[in-house]
Amino acid sequence: MAESISDPACIFCKILAGSIPSTRVLETDRAVAFLDAFPLNPGHTLLVPRDHHANLAELPDELAAHCGELLPRLCRAIKAATNAEGANVVVNLGRVAGQTVDHVHYHIIPRSPGDPIHWPWPQGRTTPEEAARLATAIRAELAS
Ligand code: 5GP
Ligand code: ZN
Repeated sequence: MAESISDPACIFCKILAGSIPSTRVLETDRAVAFLDAFPLNPGHTLLVPRDHHANLAELPDELAAHCGELLPRLCRAIKAATNAEGANVVVNLGRVAGQTVDHVHYHIIPRSPGDPIHWPWPQGRTTPEEAARLATAIRAELAS
């Protein structure tokens, strides 16, 4: 197996290495899922690739695909184990978006009616012109 990418200063790398304890629910050769130590709801789980990549935008496609493949099964298990009605799957990217640990991770947050989490976030509006301008800019970035 190729040597894994690790950052000695990263708390999730320490968790993955076992030097900080965690409550693990799933392990593969490339990713680990463990319970969040400060859960938004009981059963709040973090899916974390073993390799250290700072955020989702830096995650190699192959590793993102592996994590994506694990998410449906994890969601089913977490929902069933917590009797939740649904879940939010969230990835925070950057401080401005609430990312506090710079090792990419997916939150799976079980949801039940009346729980303390509030969705939707405040929504805005767009004009056809603005949507067209933004889509053109994003397509150009994707093509570059
Ligand atoms: P972020 O804010 O970066 O999207 O999410 C980081 C998450 O990691 C938070 O939900 C926080 O509760 C969780 N967390 C931080 N430190 C630890 C820890 O030492 N152990 C575990 N299990 N979770 C942690
Ligand atoms: Zn790390």
